[in-house]
Amino acid sequence: MMTIDKFNFAGKKAIVRVDFNVPLDENGKITDDTRIRGALPTLKKILADGGALIIMSHMGKPKGKVNAKYSLSQVVDAVSEKLGVKVQFAPDCAKASDAAAALKPGEVLLLENLRFYGEEEGKPVGIDKEDPAYEAAKKEMKGKQKEFAKTLASYADCYVNDAFGTAHRKHASTAVIADYFDADNKMLGYLMEKEVNAIDNVLKNAKHPFTAIIGGSKVSSKLAVIKNLLDKVDNLIIGGGMGFTFIKAQGGKIGDSLHEDDLMPEALNVIAAAKEKGVNLSLSVATVAGDKFANDANRQTVDIYNIPDGWEGMDASDESLANWKEIIMKSKTILWNGPVGVFEFENFAHGTGEIAKYVAEATQKNGAYSLVGGGDSVAAVNKFGLADKVSYVSTGGGAMLEAIEGKTLPGVAAIKGE
Ligand code: AMP
Repeated sequence: MMTIDKFNFAGKKAIVRVDFNVPLDENGKITDDTRIRGALPTLKKILADGGALIIMSHMGKPKGKVNAKYSLSQVVDAVSEKLGVKVQFAPDCAKASDAAAALKPGEVLLLENLRFYGEEEGKPVGIDKEDPAYEAAKKEMKGKQKEFAKTLASYADCYVNDAFGTAHRKHASTAVIADYFDADNKMLGYLMEKEVNAIDNVLKNAKHPFTAIIGGSKVSSKLAVIKNLLDKVDNLIIGGGMGFTFIKAQGGKIGDSLHEDDLMPEALNVIAAAKEKGVNLSLSVATVAGDKFANDANRQTVDIYNIPDGWEGMDASDESLANWKEIIMKSKTILWNGPVGVFEFENFAHGTGEIAKYVAEATQKNGAYSLVGGGDSVAAVNKFGLADKVSYVSTGGGAMLEAIEGKTLPGVAAIKGE
């Protein structure tokens, strides 16, 4: 497989898929430029080699229609400033042949939002999924998607995908386009390489004991992740809102705590599978409960199997945290996804902060490899200032979850040829 380090971009035009889907305020000002900064190593390497850059991205969900609110023209200045090059802008990403052809080494062209075309996602525009004509329209759109990808490919000599956040999507710019470049002229960018390596470190090359900490609100959104991990981990810590479904399924009284009744059989299956596979499944033993879902709720610590009516479990108790600390500190590989309490409320954030500390400590003191991913756990390590104390913080929530479910990511497969 070609890699970005091996490739010499001198005299070449590179089309690079990045994730510039940055949050903007009501005046179109960027409020968090993390994603732009994330793509800089790749973009700078190409320019430093003497290549020309054609940058493409999506922004928001314009659903196949032009919408000024989602125009990438809003990031031109920020990208120019960070690259130290005046970025040119192509206001129609499908009609940028001339601008691309005119690019000289060291120059940069940013294409307008790819999702102004339904072809990018390959979804029919303006037809409801229930409409009988939808399937035919979808088939037609798949053909158009190939044409769209071919047009984008025609702008450049080589293709780089550095948009991990959309790696789980088979879109024109993330996967289909790769068909129009031979194996020596397509590669992952640095950010993608880092993300893919981080996931391989836990899924393929984990040192043991391997501990997964899965929290968050719903069993339903993480069930596939949990099932895949049961074949890999030594310890599985399940905390946060999703834990209560496991407690109720075992006959516990959970008061008003969050739970999903229809997933109780699945929870019992997970418990049985963990036993069969020799995985140490660690659930909460007690919880800090509140008498309403609010920061100023009254609090009491209660037995997890006996939560009084009118109270709901909202944070991990000291006893649960002590159990989890012992497990985490002995681990050599740690994967953390999802908070163990309602950490957005200051009064119920203690448990999640402690987990962040244990993961950081196991990494720094014991040399464990730790991967933190999924929107809320990333927010948690940032909130507690520990992002640089863990081994890797994944930027792509959905893509990371799908990878941990054991699914092949189309954006990666398209380049690796899997
Ligand atoms: P997820 O997106 O599934 O990772 O869930 C993250 C959300 O789970 C956060 O907004 C937390 O506030 C929420 N959460 C964690 N623990 C609890 C709990 N015990 N009760 C209700 N919500 C929770």
